[in-house]
Amino acid sequence: MNNIKKNLLDIKTSIPEEVTLVAVSKTKPVSDLMQAYEAGQRIFGENKIQEMAEKWKMMPKDISWHMIGHVQTNKVKYMAPFVDLIHAVDSFKLLKEINKQAKKHNRTINCLLQVKIAQEESKFGLSEEHVSNLLASEEVKSLSNIRILGFMGMATFTENQEQIQSEFKKIKDFFDQSKSKYPELKILSIGMSGDYKTAMNYGSTMVRIGSSIFGARNYG
Ligand SMILES: *Cc1c(COP(=O)(O)O)cnc(C)c1O
Repeated sequence: MNNIKKNLLDIKTSIPEEVTLVAVSKTKPVSDLMQAYEAGQRIFGENKIQEMAEKWKMMPKDISWHMIGHVQTNKVKYMAPFVDLIHAVDSFKLLKEINKQAKKHNRTINCLLQVKIAQEESKFGLSEEHVSNLLASEEVKSLSNIRILGFMGMATFTENQEQIQSEFKKIKDFFDQSKSKYPELKILSIGMSGDYKTAMNYGSTMVRIGSSIFGARNYG
């Protein structure tokens, strides 16, 4: 068995069935993705829209493609025909554009709102207050070709486990509180190669794992 298959199966045994595994394949060649596909993986996450669109064209059509990276409004059109879930939505303007492009293709596109949990300045994401305002907004509710299914968050890149735990706890508490008001919120996308076990302790329903499956990346 090759490494990618082995890594994938090892990871799968460490996560419960109800947690969805997104195999983060950014920067990796289609041949690597196909090894994961042949081992049964059907959900892939990419962070660049054009790269994802090229892989979508080349690969089997029963794959669910997730955009996990920051999205520029003018590029939504390149993924609108096929993307299944956009993880990092962080503005009303972007929701409106996703809705418009989804409508053109007669589709409904699933979205997560990215909540800022890391203390680092560089991380994208919305404040809890901004998220609550978006969820309550009539304008957002009127966007009939998008579905907001939950939240995504990224913890600070640090060795400090207590800090990671407190950031995951914060988004988990906010998710539970929001879900009691909006039961359609079902997905909490937290956890990467280095912190997915911690994230699962804090209620993650979806983990995004790249390097532990495909090996280290040179860039991206
Ligand atoms: C790259 C990336 C991941 C996966 O990171 P690994 O540490 O390789 O598992 C997860 N989420 C996002 C948003 C990413 O950009």
